[in-house]
Formats: sequence, C-alpha cells, structure tokens
Amino acid sequence: MPSGRFFLPGPTEVHPDVLEAQNRAIIGHRGPAIQELMRELQAGLEVVFFTERPVFISTSSATGLMEAAVRNAVKTRVLSLVNGAFSKRFADIAKSCGLEVDTIEVPWGEAHDPNVLRRQLAQGSYDAVTLAHSETSTGVLNDVSALAAVTAEHENVLVLVDSVTGFGGAELRPDDWGLDFVLTGSQKSFALPPGLSFGVASERMMERSASVPNRGFYFDLQKFASNQGKWQSPTTPAISGLYALQVQLKRMQSETMEARWVRHTAMAERTWTWVAEMKAQGVGLRVLAPEGQRSPCVTTIAVEDGESAPLIVDEVTDRGWVIGGGYGKLKPSTFRIGHMGDHTLDQLNDLLEVLTDVVR
Ligand SMILES: *Cc1c(COP(=O)(O)O)cnc(C)c1O
Repeated sequence: MPSGRFFLPGPTEVHPDVLEAQNRAIIGHRGPAIQELMRELQAGLEVVFFTERPVFISTSSATGLMEAAVRNAVKTRVLSLVNGAFSKRFADIAKSCGLEVDTIEVPWGEAHDPNVLRRQLAQGSYDAVTLAHSETSTGVLNDVSALAAVTAEHENVLVLVDSVTGFGGAELRPDDWGLDFVLTGSQKSFALPPGLSFGVASERMMERSASVPNRGFYFDLQKFASNQGKWQSPTTPAISGLYALQVQLKRMQSETMEARWVRHTAMAERTWTWVAEMKAQGVGLRVLAPEGQRSPCVTTIAVEDGESAPLIVDEVTDRGWVIGGGYGKLKPSTFRIGHMGDHTLDQLNDLLEVLTDVVR
C-alpha cells in the first residue's frame, strides 16, 4: 500500500525513516552503548512529555502499563471513569488484580463531568482515579486537567491517565496538570511501531508504589526507577524499537509538540466538517462525540441506519485505503478515522475524497 493511506486509529502509519532505524545492529542491554542511548532517549522524552520526571520505557503494549498503573497505585479501592471500551478496560484490569472497583459510567460518546466526579469522591475513600484522555472507541476527549484538579481536592487520591491515543496529538502536561501516572503506547499518535509503551510517574506515585505489597514483578515501577538510575531497563528492552524512538523523538522535537497539536486539530476539524458536508447532502452520518468533547486524534462517525458501518469500512479497503471499524458494541453503528501520528491534512483530504464516493 502506498504511504499515507493507513488511517487505523492504532496502530498508525510509521514514517519510512523511523521504520528504517530499526535495521541497525543489536547492542547488549547492559553496558555503555545502551546507557548512552537511554540517556539521549530520556532527554528527548522529557521534552515531548513536558516533564522533569523520568519517563519509563516498557517493552509491552500500552495495556501493560495500564496494569502497572493500578498495581503500583492502588492498595484497596479505585474509582474508574468509564466512557468507552478502553476506559472500561482500566476498570476490568483493576478487578482482575483483585482490587475493589467503583465506576462512574456515562454513555459511550460522552465525556466525564468534573462535578459528578467531585460528588463521588466525597462518598468513598479511593486510592486512585483511572481515566482515558482520548477514548479511542468513541473519539471523546476528557478534560484531564479539570478532572485532575477535582481529584486533587482529596489529598491521597492519585490520578492515573491513559493517554494512548492522546499523547502526541492532544495537549498533555503531566507535571503542570498534577497527573500521578500518565501512560501511552508507541503505535498511536506517537507514530512508532507497536511494542513499546511509556509512563511518567509523579513522586507521590513512586512513594505509593513503594508501599504497595504484591505489586508484581514485570511492571514494578520501583524496578523501572532503579534501572533508569543506571540508564538501563529492568529486563531486555525491544532494542530495535528504541532505535525507532530515537529517530521519532528528533522528528517530534523539530516539528514541536505545539505544532503537532495544531496539526491534529486541523485534521480533526476537517473530518468533522466533512461529516457536516455529507449530512447536508442527505447522507445519514454524524460525529458520535458532541462538539467541545471531541478528540483531535480519532473521530468516531455514527451511521444513522445503525448497521451499515462495516460495509463502508470494507468498501474503503477495496479502494486501497484503511480506516477503522467500530469498537466493541459500536461495531455495526460506527466507523473510525485515526487522523493521528504523522498523517497530514493533504493525506486526509485524499481519504475523504474516497470516503465521499463510498458513502454517497
Ligand atoms: C490502543 C489503546 C489501548 C491499548 O493499547 P495496547 O497497546 O493495544 O495495549 C489502551 N487505551 C487506549 C485509549 C487505546 O487507544
């Protein structure tokens, strides 16, 4: 497939220079060569994550660090904000780790209201709150800084944020917003090959982690921190992925994160305008998320007949492009465009031309 046509909401298309970087020779994971690489990666990661904290690199998909988040932060009870499949996964992970889980659920397609969170936090005693920044199943963006500010009214409740599609496309400031753990994956708006994930833990998250028994082995943040101190990782990292990261961090810093956010917003707005144009021409489509609550990284589009979305996805595939189907229970009624990572407005316009033909 020619480049610029792969609009899945993860994994997303990877730039040829980044792919190419993976062909370098493997080095040992203990010793000066890896230490030099890790030091450089850390410097770049601090810039793109707007943090002064260490940025942990995990050889796992992002779900691994979701498990790390709850296992290191929660002793007894967690409050999970659920508004789609991935925020629900956070709650399911906590349950499967034997933790007590309360949820605030809003209909899929909506964002969470900080006032509702405030009321719930007043009722229970929680170790942490989990939430998804950009809910990839619905295309909804939660107001992370507002939800974190409400949580901060309670001293010992940590904020655990899944920004898997958000990071790299939507504004995210872990330190300024007081987030205790932010995690993302390599293959979404970061536009790296799948296989790595990244986490930033606050100081109090690390203090909490140290006091949580049975937090497991592979995702023990104490091990990440002590190895990071030696510019190493707890276990053998996906070294080829680190080479790709090295190149992508340079590309991101030369574009700047602020410019990435602007580019993603422009692609998202173009997509929403296209849906409005189609609707004006009598095609039964709408953006699932209400205005003001939409992710700049992924748009979930609902078909008004409630069932023809898979047909649209198949037709687009037949024409040599890839978009995402609906996720989970939204499969028949929605399709998704992942305008994330390194895609450009021009590439998106080409896709929308194809889509126009298909939906008409
Ligand atoms: C893709 C995604 C995940 C899961 O990521 P994996 O890398 O597949 O484990 C979690 N949360 C969100 C919001 C996602 O988009």
